[in-house]
Amino acid sequence: MLKSPRGTRDLLPPDTALWNFVEAAARDIFRAYNFHEIRTPIFESTELFARGVGEETDIVKKEMFTWEDRGRAESDKGQSLTLRPENTAGIVRAYIEHKLWERGLNKFFSIGPMFRRERPQKGRYRQFYQIDAEIIGPAAAGSQSPARDAEILELVAALLDRVGIANWTLELNSVGCPADRTKFNEALRQALAPVVEKMCADCQRRAVTNPLRVFDCKVPEDQPIIKTLPTISQFLDEDCRTHFEEVKNILNAVHIPYVENPRLVRGLDYYQKTAFEFTHGSLGAQNAILGGGRYDGLSEALGGPPAPGIGFAIGEDRLVLSLMETATAESVIRKPDVYIAPLGGGMNREAARVASELRRHDLVVDLGDESFRLKKSFEAADKMGARYILIVGENEVAADAFALKHLASGEQVTVPRADLAQRILRK
Ligand code: AMP
Repeated sequence: MLKSPRGTRDLLPPDTALWNFVEAAARDIFRAYNFHEIRTPIFESTELFARGVGEETDIVKKEMFTWEDRGRAESDKGQSLTLRPENTAGIVRAYIEHKLWERGLNKFFSIGPMFRRERPQKGRYRQFYQIDAEIIGPAAAGSQSPARDAEILELVAALLDRVGIANWTLELNSVGCPADRTKFNEALRQALAPVVEKMCADCQRRAVTNPLRVFDCKVPEDQPIIKTLPTISQFLDEDCRTHFEEVKNILNAVHIPYVENPRLVRGLDYYQKTAFEFTHGSLGAQNAILGGGRYDGLSEALGGPPAPGIGFAIGEDRLVLSLMETATAESVIRKPDVYIAPLGGGMNREAARVASELRRHDLVVDLGDESFRLKKSFEAADKMGARYILIVGENEVAADAFALKHLASGEQVTVPRADLAQRILRK
């Protein structure tokens, strides 16, 4: 039997109703905050991620699905392509390529699959879905302001609230600017020198190439050492410090609770200043529902103009998993309002006419087949949870009035064709 590849899965009904519920809520919220949708390719040049995510990150070092293009055209040959492991780099690439700042666009969202070759487990897949949002633009448009950080965080809280996820924790940190980072990395190097031998192979490499990434380490034996390392907060310059204070001031003003986590550095190199994660207890080891941060230097790193930005990516798989704690797919699915039972030869076309009229009134309609006995139609209507069953037989067509039965109460009435929709809409 053929199966979906390791780390991928089929999203099936009825669960897909929860996915749609989450995405519809996200679209509503994005509208309220004036974000606009952007759809970028699912694969990009490998170089984009090497430059945009960071050569030393786990994502780029170990997790990307990369291949050499073997196209026929000379220009395709030898091109290295990668399935996107995240979407900020792609959105910033599009922002630069299409000079989106000239159109006054600076708030974007995007929903779609990402790919990372990780060890699959609950809440961690090789194809997973993210809901991304990014604010990016010229500094003159206010994109460097701490008010944008707070706005993004408040948006996330509003979205979690809207879909009914309570008990989240917002973990907040400032990872400083590049100058702070240089000083911090130096301090880390010194602190690591006497202990690094006892750490995992990855950390030994990180200690040399990019000490900050030691904080990404998940190896349990390394954690006691990591706890003793200096934290970035001691190295923030005046600008980063006041920025961080102002983000917190606004969060307090709009009553968004947070906890400061000085070891939160996030696994992507491009973050500056604000970095954050929303976690949820229900998720076990993979407890981060979403993460994000500020990336003021990213546009320039990708060859664009200065364009400060901040964004986040929600792990939609994990959001849906958390949601399943309290909601079932059944609770967000709209069941058929009416199941139409054509009764006897020639009745399929009559049933089709009635169905098409009712669907125009925004009713959810399903229907059987003229070959079904009435008993079979009743069973089908019951199984799909229809509210009413409507019988379309020769007598009904002749009278232009139909037998409509409310399945829960068993109450049955005869309703003229012209009144059917109103009658079914009236609960
Ligand atoms: P990142 O792009 O690494 O900052 O991740 C943002 C969010 O995406 C995380 O908080 C997770 O919720 C989700 N995520 C990241 N990797 C995976 C994965 N392999 N499977 C499922 N969700 C993921």
